[in-house]
Amino acid sequence: MDKILFLISAFLLVWGLRLQSDPASASKGNKFAAVGMLIALFSASIMPLENSSGNYLWILTPIVFSAVIGYIIAKKIQMTSMPQMVSIFNGLGGLSAVLLSYTEINKWILSPESYPGFVLVVLIVSLFIGSVAFTGSLLAFAKLDGYRWSEKLTLPFQHIINLILLFSIAFSSYLFIDSSGGYTFLYIIISISLIYGIFFVAPIGGADMPVVISLLNSFTGITAALTGVIFDNKVMLLGGILVGAAGTILTVLMCQAMNRSLLNVLVGGFSSSGSSSKSDEQGDIREISDSDFAVQLFYSQKVIIVPGYGLAVAQAQKLCKEIQEVLESNDVEVKYAIHPVAGRMPGHMNVLLAEADVDYSKLIELDEANENFKTTDVAVIIGANDVVNPDAIDDTSSPLYGMPILKVWESTSSVVLKRSMSAGYAGVQNPLFFKENNKMYFGDAKDSLQRLSTELKNL
Ligand code: NDP
Repeated sequence: MDKILFLISAFLLVWGLRLQSDPASASKGNKFAAVGMLIALFSASIMPLENSSGNYLWILTPIVFSAVIGYIIAKKIQMTSMPQMVSIFNGLGGLSAVLLSYTEINKWILSPESYPGFVLVVLIVSLFIGSVAFTGSLLAFAKLDGYRWSEKLTLPFQHIINLILLFSIAFSSYLFIDSSGGYTFLYIIISISLIYGIFFVAPIGGADMPVVISLLNSFTGITAALTGVIFDNKVMLLGGILVGAAGTILTVLMCQAMNRSLLNVLVGGFSSSGSSSKSDEQGDIREISDSDFAVQLFYSQKVIIVPGYGLAVAQAQKLCKEIQEVLESNDVEVKYAIHPVAGRMPGHMNVLLAEADVDYSKLIELDEANENFKTTDVAVIIGANDVVNPDAIDDTSSPLYGMPILKVWESTSSVVLKRSMSAGYAGVQNPLFFKENNKMYFGDAKDSLQRLSTELKNL
């Protein structure tokens, strides 16, 4: 019976993932995968267990508690805090892998015939990756949530120290197996792995955080897959492989989107407080009035909107759609240029615009957008900053250097909507704001778009 249920849940998980690749079916895919997970939990619970009587209370109580906690968190979480939530969930996945591996290793210490040698190696690897995912994800959470201390954990010669830590873990593992299971070595492996997780993430910051989050996500998947091998639980193995593979593919795609190699991200180590060689003082800025902005847009032929993190913070997506419709009613062509790392999570802008029912065909990706700017009258940048920073092309000392960006300045003119001259996530000033053909429209994006909408309707 449990095997059939495993098969059904495996099918639902894979099919759910398949549906998630298209925005139109993504929500349905999510539900399929959730049902698949529920069946997997149920089938794992009814698997024959040693001394199974009395275990159901132990299984059901945490499931019910964690389901309630997970539901409340998912309901309350702001879209802009999704990466933090993903980090915490990753970390908890890593912690459970640590606890499971520890329990099974303990079983091997007490009766060495319970596992053959290769399973013990798998358990130690799972213990190591789980520990790294746990502390690494907690630090990633702290960095994303803006805890200042989290940016100060890097030591001099950090990468050499990391190599020494890795070597110590490998050597302690050898001594642990060689001594047929000394607890001291086991605790050393766990402690150094937890420390390594912190130092693994510590040097990474700024615009590279999305890559780290998806990498840690893939780590959690790998530990789940390894645990599936140990427990001979096919659906855990499959789920782990899916998460591990999806996380790895996403990591590679993000690196490509930012034009950086994974090694460069991991050892590059720029911090979010980094600043480019050009100072903050880069010339004069020009502001645009409500009426001038409205007239300029209304009598344009083509307008490209660049949404960013600030649009999500202001929750102004519906107003944005309203303005799009007013412009379209005057035969203005309106498109949305989507940068792959705009916002604070992969696909953030797609989700945001979908919430406002913006037609998916209006969204264009980075390359297509860059071809389009040359024939665009006005590029309207709403709460975006790093993803339109020309230093990514011009300034080799900028932490953003090498990241493909939206070349909004190639439009006839650009207007930036933000509250102040503050920097974006990477912590660097943006020379776009000082360009001749750029104007600033200051204010909270919701207030600004409301003002603009009123002006447009009065035309
Ligand atoms: P940025 O973080 O670069 O800039 C956002 C801008 O929005 C800020 O300069 C801010 O300026 C403005 N802003 C904030 N709140 C408001 C508001 N209420 N109204 C109007 N403006 C507002 O965002 P981008 O989207 O351009 O770039 C994303 C950055 O985040 C990249 O560096 C990326 O690497 C990083 N990142 C991305 C992740 C992902 O997966 N997508 C995950 C983690 C990090 P002001 O304060 O002056 O208003």
